[in-house]
Amino acid sequence: MSTTVAAVRERSVSCSLDNYLVLPDHTMDARIAAARRELGARAVVLGHHYQRDEVIRFADFRGDSYKLAQAAGRTNAAYIVFCGVHFMAESADILAHMGQQVILPDLNAGCSMADMAEIGQVESCWEQLMALDLTDDHGRGITPLTYMNSTAAIKSFCGERGGLVCTSSNAAAAFKWAFARNQKILFLPDQHLGRNTAFAMGIPLEECVVWDPFMVQGGVTVEKLRSARVILWKGHCSVHQRFLPEHVDKVRTRFPGIQVIVHPECRWEVCQKADGIGSTERLIKMIADAPEGSKFAVGTEIHLVNRMGKDFAKEGKTVITLDESGCLCTTMFRISPQHLCWALENLTEDNVVNRIQVPEEVKYWSRVALDRMLEIG
Ligand code: SF4
Repeated sequence: MSTTVAAVRERSVSCSLDNYLVLPDHTMDARIAAARRELGARAVVLGHHYQRDEVIRFADFRGDSYKLAQAAGRTNAAYIVFCGVHFMAESADILAHMGQQVILPDLNAGCSMADMAEIGQVESCWEQLMALDLTDDHGRGITPLTYMNSTAAIKSFCGERGGLVCTSSNAAAAFKWAFARNQKILFLPDQHLGRNTAFAMGIPLEECVVWDPFMVQGGVTVEKLRSARVILWKGHCSVHQRFLPEHVDKVRTRFPGIQVIVHPECRWEVCQKADGIGSTERLIKMIADAPEGSKFAVGTEIHLVNRMGKDFAKEGKTVITLDESGCLCTTMFRISPQHLCWALENLTEDNVVNRIQVPEEVKYWSRVALDRMLEIG
């Protein structure tokens, strides 16, 4: 261990996380920076856009989940420290090279949307669809398609049955790919992204049904299941679903001329009212490409909106949240500087904490589903 790291760590009494969680915030920057210096190219830190400022400032790469997983796989770092949520760290492990280890600084950083589609529930849904002769177990009849924001088990389920993974930016291309093979799609786990994508492709809302895993036969009649083109899983993002159509009306009244741009995880009614819809990366680009003096109300996670507000103010642009109460992703927020410091300082001693490891078989079929996504571009 370098003397710098040893010196700043004098106050640490052990490698136990509990001892880190009580450390004062103002001591974190120096310790994290020292651990980063000591680790050098052996570690790469990834920061999702929704992370808080005091964590994301240490990220080597910032981005959405897929961009980050790809970025990590392109480095030779032995340790990939993912400041994000569980499914993102799983994706990084799926795409990592042999010998790379993925670390999630707080194992409690999950994703409420990903958790809404448990593998047992999805398998049960599929069996019921097979019993109705709507598909076979190889996906001849229905293409299972999952959003990146899902567990590795769900990605693997889709890969094994002829399906694929999509992001919010390539969902339309994934739908086209899926419809080229089958008449129907089972879309997991975000009903809003699925509905918004289908509608934008010209599929009427009546041809989208919602499968509720807590109801008999998903709460859908056989007739509706037979005529549906898209079976949407009843999942949502607790952050984006909070935006309502009245928020759009209200912000337009208060700030005439403001442009409303939202993430496609928002409700269909909100997306219909918006001036623009896009993935996290796309929302940032829309603002970056706008002329000086532009004003935006953005329907996405509050840490990103606030950061854009500060960054784009320098270019004479105004960025505010669509909903004044602001929507925080509480699970992303779990990664604190203390958790990051704990993970990094342990790594300086080659002590890997909170490793995320996807089982080999799950990894294999998840990669198949991800490779199909890469085929569609
Ligand atoms: S913002 Fe929504 S989808 Fe993203 S991690 Fe948080 S709960 Fe999950």
